[in-house]
Amino acid sequence: MVVENNFIISIMSILFKTVSSNEQVKGNQQIVEYCMIFLVKIVNTPDTLAYIYSSKFDNIDFSQFVIYLVRDCPIKEYRDCCKKYLAILCRSYNTRASILPPANYILQILITGYPFNSNIVGSNMEYFNLLTELMELTLQNQTPEILEFFKKFIQLVWVEVLNRKGDSSELFKDTDQILAGSLDVLTTYYQSVNDKDDVQNMISKVFHYCVYDRNNSHTLKCLTPTTRKSAFSLLKVLIKDNPNTHIDIITLLQCYLSEVLDIQKDKTLARIERRDEFFFLTPDLRYSVLNTPDQMVTDSNVLRVLPEIKKMFSHLQESERQYYDPTEFLVNWSQLAKIDIIQQQDAEEFYNLLTEQIEHELLATQQQNFIERVFKGQLHRQISCSTVANHKSSGLEDITSLSVDIDKKKNLYDALVGFFEGETIRDYKCPECDKLVEVTKSFSIKTLPQTLLIVLKRFRFNASTLQREKICDRFEYPTF
Ligand SMILES: [Zn+2]
Repeated sequence: MVVENNFIISIMSILFKTVSSNEQVKGNQQIVEYCMIFLVKIVNTPDTLAYIYSSKFDNIDFSQFVIYLVRDCPIKEYRDCCKKYLAILCRSYNTRASILPPANYILQILITGYPFNSNIVGSNMEYFNLLTELMELTLQNQTPEILEFFKKFIQLVWVEVLNRKGDSSELFKDTDQILAGSLDVLTTYYQSVNDKDDVQNMISKVFHYCVYDRNNSHTLKCLTPTTRKSAFSLLKVLIKDNPNTHIDIITLLQCYLSEVLDIQKDKTLARIERRDEFFFLTPDLRYSVLNTPDQMVTDSNVLRVLPEIKKMFSHLQESERQYYDPTEFLVNWSQLAKIDIIQQQDAEEFYNLLTEQIEHELLATQQQNFIERVFKGQLHRQISCSTVANHKSSGLEDITSLSVDIDKKKNLYDALVGFFEGETIRDYKCPECDKLVEVTKSFSIKTLPQTLLIVLKRFRFNASTLQREKICDRFEYPTF
């Protein structure tokens, strides 16, 4: 017993001398690692644990020692190594003994050393990594005492998150590390504990204080990729298993396009983005929009979408900025079209709605009938009866786009061939035979529009599941 205890004291002393020497001497990294391995090997009985909990090494006690190893030690490699082996110690210890298991004990030490309201010079990431790992471990066994303890702690962490200022520099500074770490602590907690009574409020706090400030009413906290990532992880955990909150988060996201892809909740917005691009890439439409007089454009009672599109296009054409934030357009557009953003919307439907609205607004300008002028073409429709060769009917159809089937088609050429080949329709009433027959319905082009828009039908009906499914096969089309 005494031999073991003396050994522990020696190991701890060597370890502390090594990690606290500011110079990073070659070979020291290995000394740190071996000391930690010895500790894990030796400290595995209630007696050795009791001893290590209560001992002092070079005048510091075990809790100060732990905090120094993972939080205050200036050398990252050492912090990393100590963090790793402390976690192993906590995971490998058998909890049957009467003494407090190291996971709980070390977790308490870490929580006591939480950098509330302060900036610890150095790094806090290893500290937070160990803290969240031990939280996960401890929360596997959710006794009322443990839950009560965490509830109080988590409230303090919320206060910390709301009081802490973020940093916008690329350097991952202390304050930012504490912010990211605190968000991770919240994420870990809500992942393990079902304590989401106030979830709407929590989502709104994280969203408005951490990732998106719509009214510029306060300073945004998460300004670097790391903190934003932590905030979005927390949002994901908060909305999980709470279908009602999806609507909240999507409403919030509606105003914040650039993060949409991160959460992958809303496909419609991504489409809107691509539609804008498409319109911009149609030179005639771009010039028309840009040519609408400003005076008219500012009269927002009549014009809701056009002014926003004009702004957007002006930016795309004239500005050197790498991006454009279409928030205003989206807000106006979604109010106007009453888009249900949970519903997946067909690209073609969306296109039709938007062109209709643009056309409507262009009526008030010199650019009226524009959409028609640019996109309108005509198809010649022919229906041939299969029983009598000269039973034919035909007519003209106006189009603003061609919708082609792409299922089992290799490229656009094949898809267009398929479109013009026509289709066979059964049980069609031929007016001349006056009975149900099989007919062939086909189209040919009567007039081509200035710009032909081709819509790829990306859905097929799966007969075995009786559901529509999206086609994700490779499809080639010419690029210019
Ligand atoms: Zn017929």
